[in-house]
Amino acid sequence: MRSSEPIIHIDPELCTGCRRCAAVCPVDAIIGEPGRPQEVDAHRCVICGQCVQICTAYAPDHLEPADGLKAKRLQRGQLPSVREPLFAAYSTGQALGVKRALADSALYKVVQCAPAIRVSLAEEFGLPLGTLTPGKMAAALRRLKFDRIYDTNFGADVTIMEEGTELIGRVMSGERLPMFTSCCPAWVKHAETAAPELLDHLSSCKSPMQMVGALVKTYGAKQDGVDPAKIYSVAVMPCTCKEFECSREEMEVDGLREVDVVITTRELAHLIKDAGIDFMNLPDESFDSPLGLYSGAGSIFGVTGGVMEAAIRTGYELVTHETIPNLQLDFVRGEEGLRTATVQLGELELKVAVVAGLKYVSAILNQVKAGQCPYHFIEVMGCPEGCVSGGGQPKLLLETMRKSAYQARKSSVYRHDSHQQVRKSHENPAIIKLYKDFLGEPLGHVPHHLLHTTYQSREKAVSPISAGREGGRI
Ligand code: SF4
Ligand code: SF4
Repeated sequence: MRSSEPIIHIDPELCTGCRRCAAVCPVDAIIGEPGRPQEVDAHRCVICGQCVQICTAYAPDHLEPADGLKAKRLQRGQLPSVREPLFAAYSTGQALGVKRALADSALYKVVQCAPAIRVSLAEEFGLPLGTLTPGKMAAALRRLKFDRIYDTNFGADVTIMEEGTELIGRVMSGERLPMFTSCCPAWVKHAETAAPELLDHLSSCKSPMQMVGALVKTYGAKQDGVDPAKIYSVAVMPCTCKEFECSREEMEVDGLREVDVVITTRELAHLIKDAGIDFMNLPDESFDSPLGLYSGAGSIFGVTGGVMEAAIRTGYELVTHETIPNLQLDFVRGEEGLRTATVQLGELELKVAVVAGLKYVSAILNQVKAGQCPYHFIEVMGCPEGCVSGGGQPKLLLETMRKSAYQARKSSVYRHDSHQQVRKSHENPAIIKLYKDFLGEPLGHVPHHLLHTTYQSREKAVSPISAGREGGRI
């Protein structure tokens, strides 16, 4: 079965027409007159969920008949036990389907968590902003009855191996420069819509989430002696666009969906509460081997500049054959929407740019179109601070909390990196073993089949369902 329902919605019964959502939308996809219910232009919308984060108009329980609220929750894909207000702007949830699958003993349930989940999940349980809880998160997922607890950070390490090799190859040959990162599905959809003639400039790497998905149903299935067709692969993401990404027709491995379903940080919290798990008092537990072991470089993918920093840590050592003198690369960290630097990798002078927020990418796209872009490598993230500020993260009701929340989550991501024993992707022993036993060389035949993808022009006006899911679901 294939589904084409939209993911981002504005409820016309609840929308006040304040247009705060329009002010944060990076692609001008919110349409409507002030004071009247707004609509989403599905062709332009990149499903980033920033409108979902900012909207504060809600249906208070005491103003609505209970069965009306229940029907709305069901329509939104929420568990009946959810007790949060219903906001006007929302993303369709997948928690109901995941709860059903977790009770199905015929399925082998595998989960992966994005880097930015472990620094925000605890906020849903009343812990201070940015509290770092990877161990409790793994324990909670095990209590939810997942058979394997894997990690998107592992996929981030694989991405560095593939994307770093691809970048060095392109810089040496001078072809298809600059190269853009391709981890952020909102950015990829925007590129396909706004600049389809530049799609050759995107790295061909799938996102870390899709890489883990592909490896779960091949390498992971082999390790566990499980039929890949029995695997139900769930990803927990800070991002509302990841559900769109996992549904893209390209994201299949040997006829199977790589990732079957994506839930957000908020939805994982709902599932944990629904199951009656006492999150606060859980012991710290580990992720499972082999697809749950990651380096510090993998964990910083959750912040703007993180992909660049991880890539430079590995790229420096691959090009110079020397140890990088400093692992904390402050020149790519920061808050500005566009940051640039020149990095010396031995004799190679690499010009890089980091874009945080899609509204800052237009100038660069115009430079590339005009053949005047000075950079070799450009990281683009759709959300203002990278994934820590994603549309699926815990909702911040007070605007004054936003900056401090993003700062706290970012600090936790960097603290997590600094506490890892291994901080470079190419030194992660699980990655070394993966290439030795299964993948062979980066960009080789097996990685090409499993870990790389193509893009499609979305330039022409299409029907509104194009901003919805494209793939099948159980
Ligand atoms: S969706 Fe929310 S933020 Fe946007 S106009 Fe309606 S009430 Fe305001
Ligand atoms: S999801 Fe993002 S792109 Fe789509 S309407 Fe909301 S803010 Fe705009």
